[in-house]
Amino acid sequence: MSLIRLHSFAEGHWFSGDGAGQILASAIDGAPVAEITAKGLDYAAMLRFARQKGGPALRRLTFHERASLLKAVAQALTARKEELYALSALTGATRADSWIDIDGGIGTLFVYASKGKRELPNETFLIDGAVEGLSKTGTFVGQHIYVPREGVALQINAYNFPVWGMLEKLGPSMLAGLPVIAKPASATAWLAEKAARIILESGVLPEGAFQFIAGSTGDLFEHLTSQDHVAFTGSLATSIALQAHPVILKNAVPFTAERDSLNCSILGPDAVPGTPEFDLFVKEVAKEIGVKAGQKCTAIRRIIVPEALSEAVASAISKRLASLAIGDPRVETTRMGPLASLAQRDDVRSQIARLRQDCEILHGDPDRLEIAGLDTEKGAFLSPVLLAARDAKTAERPHDTEAFGPVATLLPYRDLADAIDLARKGDGSLAGSLVTADARIAREVVFGAGAFHGRLLVLNAECAAESTGHGSPMPHLVHGGPGRAGGGEELGGIRAVHHQMQRVAVQGSPAFLTAITKSYVKGTPEPETPAHPFRLPFEDLVPGQSFHSPEREISLEDIEHFAHFTGDTFYAHMDEEAVKGHPFFPGRVAHGYLLLSFAAGLFVEPKRGPVLANYGLDNLRFLKPVSPGEAIRVRLTVKSKSPRNAAYGEVRWDVEIRTGSGETAATYELLTMNAYREAS
Ligand code: NAP
Repeated sequence: MSLIRLHSFAEGHWFSGDGAGQILASAIDGAPVAEITAKGLDYAAMLRFARQKGGPALRRLTFHERASLLKAVAQALTARKEELYALSALTGATRADSWIDIDGGIGTLFVYASKGKRELPNETFLIDGAVEGLSKTGTFVGQHIYVPREGVALQINAYNFPVWGMLEKLGPSMLAGLPVIAKPASATAWLAEKAARIILESGVLPEGAFQFIAGSTGDLFEHLTSQDHVAFTGSLATSIALQAHPVILKNAVPFTAERDSLNCSILGPDAVPGTPEFDLFVKEVAKEIGVKAGQKCTAIRRIIVPEALSEAVASAISKRLASLAIGDPRVETTRMGPLASLAQRDDVRSQIARLRQDCEILHGDPDRLEIAGLDTEKGAFLSPVLLAARDAKTAERPHDTEAFGPVATLLPYRDLADAIDLARKGDGSLAGSLVTADARIAREVVFGAGAFHGRLLVLNAECAAESTGHGSPMPHLVHGGPGRAGGGEELGGIRAVHHQMQRVAVQGSPAFLTAITKSYVKGTPEPETPAHPFRLPFEDLVPGQSFHSPEREISLEDIEHFAHFTGDTFYAHMDEEAVKGHPFFPGRVAHGYLLLSFAAGLFVEPKRGPVLANYGLDNLRFLKPVSPGEAIRVRLTVKSKSPRNAAYGEVRWDVEIRTGSGETAATYELLTMNAYREAS
């Protein structure tokens, strides 16, 4: 294979870098694969380009439109993913490892595309939480909103997941409206560069929304501003150096770090040999050691097991490791390939040597591995290594040394409190797991060690078949952990989008807040409503427009009729004796659902019109019981609207049911789909 000259993509053009570059080698046999240098890149110009072109273009789009871009990017990558698989093997990844990286990355984009459409409004900003009343008469209120930041998302990735790492960061940033500059780790950059080419060749993204650096970041940090955002994944040492950059500190540039993590897995004391949980634990630990040759930020490094079971666990894990098919990752039967580079193997060997200050090796020889037909010195092959702490109580190295390879250490514990103590010693982890069939143990561990973890998997026989496993970050759940893990918070569904936007608390009058947020705030003078709002097409509806119903009295017969008709003959509606002395009800009262039904009867405009369907209620509260003989009336107000497609959009209505004496009996938000004029 001829040497690939890697290119950066800057200011709308591919750039090959000046002069000779660093040669990157195949993990399998050390043969040169690619050459990389970013020398000559104008980093300040890249940032300018992103800020002047990409940012404004993305910010003009709504969340739904940005979500569609992500979906199109994911589709483009899917169509050409075999090109990625072919290059991935040279990083040492087996087909299964590559699946996590490539399909996992693409899947993450699809999830963000779908969440963007389903969970975000078709808008360019977000409303955060409820309106806060700040004055006695309600003329001064506050509302938090999220607005897009006006900078660049600089995303620096680790070498181990060149595709997933880039895509899991790109998804939330683009959804938040930030243009991206991605910088992969050099060691496996040929794969990231191919993914970047596919993204750019798809032509889906607006100009300046995505740029790519093959090589170093040069003086880029010098040009960062407070509107930018840095997301870093990599080692503790690099993160400390970058996070302490004077420009990051001076300009308070938000900096998210995902770094080393000494993740643990705990075997519950109940999970003795012969139980399904014991087998699950052994399988999960051995799997985590072998997948990606242990080069996973979430891999299990510390295996915390009851003292009495430690020998049984050690021998079961060793047995599995002994049968692990290690070899050329391109061969279908191979289960574990080499590390990504010889430098990485050197690093892992030196970390194992450090671990050995406190531990002994139970399985594997870090210095020698023979595989028929392969030169295991030229390729970055390494045996899986299982260590055990000589004295788990005093051993320190397992809690401060990350061997980023197929390496894990057994730590026996005396009782559950001891196990929790050991788990906490990692000083902050991305992911921990517990395997137990006892919910009480699960509770104790989750609350005992939860503060030290970003994610906790509680595994038992019930969820095992469908469990995504200890090591898989899910786009729906937070990826990141406290302390040593970096304090980062990537993914976690829409949380990651919030994270990259600016939250602003806006204070002012209700009318102004309605105008700013396009969402009705109580106290806003009612705009003219030319007809019943159910008769108005989607585009004519204005937040605040209202319909005020006439009154309807609720009789005892109504309550009884409703009770028998629906079958809801709960005593509070039917039995005057039984309800005596009740803390909430003065006597028999109307059903809450009766109020809702009568309310609909009072506000509905029955003829066919723009309202296509009612599809739910939010935030329903029954605030005051309504007794027989009392009347109710309803106010139906347009709260906000969000276009869905060319034919219709979603309308959120603020509904208040009041009693004849003016007290609020119930409030809720009604959701309908309303047609545009043309379609109605
Ligand atoms: P690394 O050596 O720290 O490099 C990480 C990234 O930082 C690379 O892109 C690297 O680029 C870049 N970099 C290094 N020095 C830089 C500088 N002075 N200025 C700007 N960028 C710089 O880490 P790695 O060896 O790639 O990755 C392994 C580590 O990552 C492990 O410790 C692992 O635990 C951690 N990791 C964490 C997560 C997580 O989500 N928490 C995920 C994966 C990996 P070059 O390669 O070009 O130097």
